[in-house]
Amino acid sequence: MKKDKKRYDVEVTDSGFANGISTQLAQKIAEAGNTGVKLTQEEKDVIVEEAAIHFGSFLTALGVEWEGDPNSSDTPRRVAKAYVNDLWKGRFEPLPDVTAFPSDGYDGIVQESNIPLTSMCSHHHQTITGRVSVAYIPGPNGQVVGLSKLNRIVEHFGRRGAIQEQLTVAIHSAIHKICEGNVGVAVQIDAGHNCVSCRGTKHQGASMQTAKLSGNFRQDSNIRAEFFNNIAIASRNK
Ligand SMILES: [Zn+2]
Repeated sequence: MKKDKKRYDVEVTDSGFANGISTQLAQKIAEAGNTGVKLTQEEKDVIVEEAAIHFGSFLTALGVEWEGDPNSSDTPRRVAKAYVNDLWKGRFEPLPDVTAFPSDGYDGIVQESNIPLTSMCSHHHQTITGRVSVAYIPGPNGQVVGLSKLNRIVEHFGRRGAIQEQLTVAIHSAIHKICEGNVGVAVQIDAGHNCVSCRGTKHQGASMQTAKLSGNFRQDSNIRAEFFNNIAIASRNK
């Protein structure tokens, strides 16, 4: 069976926007004419140094004498590193190559439910944590992708600033492009927002559900019901 390793342009927004890739990576891609290029460690270090200077100024503006406080003196660099290496990792790295396989006649739902999500809202820079469930239906001559690629897509777009609605669309769009020939894609996110529980109304325990359905998931109520029922089954088996 021939494996097909490809790179897809899955970006759905302008670079530099809170849910897009960083302007530094976008510039490097433009210069190389290749979406597979990566920022070097040295280039990431420059971003960390620059961001640390500005976060130090942010603390100073809040009246924190961080430079003389042993617990805070390295905080600007720590925060900058956390953004670049973890919280916003998906802004600084390209999506890994995806290997696709012929679907070989399988025409049912391919679904992965309850993928852990750690993200951040671009309104308040507070964390969003929850679960993402994704599914697609390969077409007659369509292709399937390795299961872990679905997890990687969620990580890639989750590890950026976004609002949950944008994140739902971004994950849906990427799966739609990568699973060529599909006849339906479904994405559902159930997540709690720290900006709701820790500020503003301070309501603990509230969660937000969003869903983006296309193709047969949108047109056929039985297939739609199967998707949501699969999430319920997976949740019971956790
Ligand atoms: Zn928020």
